[in-house]
Amino acid sequence: RKVMLSGIKPSGQLTLGNYIGALRNFVKYQDEYEMLVFIANLHCITVYQDPQELKKNLKDAVALYLACGLDPHQATIFLQSDVKEHAQLGFIMNCNSYQGELNRMTQYKDKVAKGETNLTVGLYTYPCLMAADILIYDADYVPVGEDQKQHVELTRDIANRFNNRYGQTFRIPEPVVPKVGARIMSLSDPTKKMSKSDKGDKGCIYLLEDLKSARKKIMSAVTDNEACVRFDPQNQPGIANLLTIMSSLSGEPIDAIVDRFAGKGYGEFKGAVADVVCGELETIQARYQAIIQSDLIEKTLAEGAVKAQRLAGRKLEKVQRKIGIEFRK
Ligand code: ATP
Ligand code: MG
Repeated sequence: RKVMLSGIKPSGQLTLGNYIGALRNFVKYQDEYEMLVFIANLHCITVYQDPQELKKNLKDAVALYLACGLDPHQATIFLQSDVKEHAQLGFIMNCNSYQGELNRMTQYKDKVAKGETNLTVGLYTYPCLMAADILIYDADYVPVGEDQKQHVELTRDIANRFNNRYGQTFRIPEPVVPKVGARIMSLSDPTKKMSKSDKGDKGCIYLLEDLKSARKKIMSAVTDNEACVRFDPQNQPGIANLLTIMSSLSGEPIDAIVDRFAGKGYGEFKGAVADVVCGELETIQARYQAIIQSDLIEKTLAEGAVKAQRLAGRKLEKVQRKIGIEFRK
């Protein structure tokens, strides 16, 4: 069976963007692929996190994965730091990638361009750790949103380079980007991606958010003066974003939604979007409540770590032998 791997950073509360672009799709994939899903707690600390908050976000992330329908009997769910081989292979990846490559990573470049100060070395080299996360399990597919595609491309480059240098070692992974919903935008600024690290952002809907508050954010989402529900991301990014959200949650094609709201006002349209979003949140939140009170999270992570470590341990040994830092037979 093909292997699919995905991770999510517990750098804040999970958003509707994470759900549509990532979480939701894993559930679809778990029947088809050998699924490995990890909580990227190491990637997370590339930016300072309050330890108490981080701990809570970790737990919530696992609970939300399960609440969205990921089945721990089918998928291997684990904490990145529980499998120490990730960090070790990450260092080896650092040594097989170039500064020039990392300088070209747009996520990092954007942060530099925005004049953000105190960027850590960990943040700069995180694509190398991400390469290790993927390559250590010989993943065939990595489902990601648009923003992560470049990092998977880098992973492929590093893997090819390593294979050329040391002989066939890593499988070359492919990014899988959803056709609809790969980039859900902020409700308050539809030219900006919805991101969980934008704390307290009005433009962001959180999966555990109070339904009233979610509805309010949708009703006050920034739109335009065209007064026409139409899919035109260039000129009507706000409406296009709401259409995308609605379509990817309900499964109704965007064209059909546009037809249905022809001649109707934005208020009515937004109300319908809010109904769909709140319906989905309500289901997730009910399941979340049940899971958070059980011991399922601890059990899932403990079992997941054992399974993942077995795979990662074998691979790391092979890598170490190839590069000559292992002298045992
Ligand atoms: P951060 O602001 O900390 O980077 P994030 O919201 O961008 O948080 P990540 O942990 O970087 O979330 O990404 C988790 C997964 O969610 C990735 O597969 C990513 O591509 C996807 N994703 C993130 N934001 C969106 C979005 N707005 N629309 C669709 N997918 C998204
Ligand atoms: Mg991100």
